[in-house]
Amino acid sequence: MLEDTIVAQATFPAESALGIIRISGGSTFPILKKCFKFKSNKKTFENIKSHTIHNGFIFNNQNEIIDNVLISIFKSPGSYTGEDMAEITCHGNPFIIYKIINLLISNGCRIAEPGEFTKRAFLNGKMDLSEAEAVADLISAKNDIALKLSLKQLLGDEKNIINDLRKKIIDVLSLIDGNLDFSEDIYAIDTDNLKTQILQIILKLKKLVNNADEGLLLKEGIKLVITGKPNVGKSSLLNLLLKKDKSIVTHIPGTTRDIIEDKIIIEGLPFLIFDTAGIRKAKGIVEKIGIKKTKNVIKNANLVLFLLDGSKKITKDDIKIFKEIKNKNFIIVINKIDLKQKISKKDIIKNFKCDEKSTVEISALKNKGINDLTKLIKNTIINTYNLSSVDEIYISNLRHKIALENAIKFLNNAIENLKTLEIAAVDIKKAIGSIETIIGKIADEDILNNIFQNFCIGK
Ligand code: GDP
Repeated sequence: MLEDTIVAQATFPAESALGIIRISGGSTFPILKKCFKFKSNKKTFENIKSHTIHNGFIFNNQNEIIDNVLISIFKSPGSYTGEDMAEITCHGNPFIIYKIINLLISNGCRIAEPGEFTKRAFLNGKMDLSEAEAVADLISAKNDIALKLSLKQLLGDEKNIINDLRKKIIDVLSLIDGNLDFSEDIYAIDTDNLKTQILQIILKLKKLVNNADEGLLLKEGIKLVITGKPNVGKSSLLNLLLKKDKSIVTHIPGTTRDIIEDKIIIEGLPFLIFDTAGIRKAKGIVEKIGIKKTKNVIKNANLVLFLLDGSKKITKDDIKIFKEIKNKNFIIVINKIDLKQKISKKDIIKNFKCDEKSTVEISALKNKGINDLTKLIKNTIINTYNLSSVDEIYISNLRHKIALENAIKFLNNAIENLKTLEIAAVDIKKAIGSIETIIGKIADEDILNNIFQNFCIGK
């Protein structure tokens, strides 16, 4: 309920220097009056300005001091939610925070739902839906690129493009609607021209769908899988790339049983990197599960690094693993080049029929050839996914991508139905509706709940 005054802790619930408690709603200041006293007795909630900070004390209902705090005041409509708001900065003891929140609840606040502050900001017209989603992305961004993409979305880059497209579709609809208002013999519409205009919009939408694919890939991380038979040096390579000891390096074959996953930036691109169990005839149940997981991870990979031990001849086991990845985007990595080599270029071409350009030689132990490998990884990804620079990526949200695809579908229907303008107009209206779900001009309760329930409490 929008009329409720809500409260939540905005900082992480753990012992820390400071803790912040947020309050929003029409009764913010009447509730605070019951449990907060300004240090200066000249101040009242009525005479202080919005966006100011004040020293004071939180008192419990028995008039005992709970904490000496700072209070930030944001008055409606200039606040984040558009409502009266306050942020209490207290000492970061979870017990103090718990006591203050309980006190606020006993004086009339209700605990906020996840994302409820931002939901109110949206419902009060302070931001559109794509900006609200950008807030969630900004909080959860795990790398620089994800951060940049969510910031762009928050600052309205995506909204502007979407609004522009929406306007173009509305212009086409107005042409049809104008025509429908007249009888045919007075004003015949040029359907070829209409078709051209719709096709131009579809082209723009398709570009945006590709743009969203790139954005999603960068936001979520490019899935890079390291695979190869046991003992070829997968964990050593992973450790080298991560520059930290996350997976266990050992000379006993088959010890990396579970899949190790980590986030890593390679040549400026964000990757999710997976070190897999070697695919070989599984002995125990644990290893069998590991192998099943490996196959699944390979299936979803954007790029596979297939490792070979250059000091040993290619075996049936290598070829068996290669069969699992041969239809994927892969790089053959010949490891252990510090030892006497038993694999030649000819062997590689004969067994894996692959281009020399997708092969690289390294020594994970001696840290050799790693730069060649990372450059090859970057180039392979950029070429495969036709990646633009981050500055040219505007969309990185799956819901938005689906809405754009739906709009394309409706506009294609409109082209097919151009002979009957009334029907084409309905299709175009549906396309507009689909575009509008992105910015939230049209948003049903399910979409809203779905979006905001993924926020953290206090945001
Ligand atoms: P995994 O089973 O594929 O993950 O292989 P590991 O990374 O656990 O390595 C197996 C063994 O090979 C370990 O003893 C590593 O020290 C060794 N090793 C890994 N890379 C190299 C390399 O480039 N040269 C040499 N000589 N040994 C390596």
